[in-house]
Amino acid sequence: MTENGSRLDAGLQAEVRPDRSGPAGNVIVITGPSGVGKGTVVEKLVQRVPHLVRSVSVTTRSMRPGEKEGRDYFFVSPQEFERRKAEGSLLESAEFAGCQYGTPRAWVEERLRGQDDVLLVIEVQGAMQVRQRMPEAVLVFLSPPSLAELEARLTGRGTEGPEKIALRLDKARQELAERRHFHYEVVNDDLDAAVDNLAHIIYAERLRIRNSAR
Ligand code: ADP
Ligand code: 5GP
Repeated sequence: MTENGSRLDAGLQAEVRPDRSGPAGNVIVITGPSGVGKGTVVEKLVQRVPHLVRSVSVTTRSMRPGEKEGRDYFFVSPQEFERRKAEGSLLESAEFAGCQYGTPRAWVEERLRGQDDVLLVIEVQGAMQVRQRMPEAVLVFLSPPSLAELEARLTGRGTEGPEKIALRLDKARQELAERRHFHYEVVNDDLDAAVDNLAHIIYAERLRIRNSAR
């Protein structure tokens, strides 16, 4: 966090949503190509901004080394995923690079009623479903400084082999073309600057007059 960032947060925390008996929290969707730094940025953001929580998704992908059930994802079989989707317990869902991903609806709705803002860190198709089902959701696109830097981050993370990286880069080109559907774009070049910018968006949205034009 920059020095300016800490001053901003200290000043704003007391003022965050002055009437907390008022409307529910905001849904903030963060989308961006795999490897752009969504996980890294969001981890810092939830530590910094009060009343901000991250939704944990359900996926059919296999667990990566270092990941934990219930913290990074709920890892389920394709059959279990289909069952949850069919019973309507997923707020949105999508296939990405051959695996299924979805957001558990009940947890998100409960936290919103409790006046927390809920971050959904999801890919583009899911973001478009949220936009349709919850028009008041705030949609943020996290961009890489360049495709070359994105490839370097995916390679550096070391969680996918060259074939899967190629698939994710292909997908990234398609996703970058969808930026126009989002309300905000934040470039994740300098990590602290990206976290600062996201915090500003979240604080500004808390002060927005509901039902006003954005
Ligand atoms: P995502 O969740 O979008 O797939 P990650 O958060 O896993 O991406 O980040 C991918 C890689 O890029 C990680 O190795 C991470 O440490 C690195 N990274 C994230 N943000 C930055 C940044 N601003 N500058 C340089 N490297 C970064
Ligand atoms: P990864 O396999 O790298 O964890 O995630 C792959 C992609 O799926 C990322 O773009 C991630 O944001 C997205 N994703 C994770 N959870 C969900 C979800 O619940 N719904 C949707 N639509 N996408 C998700």
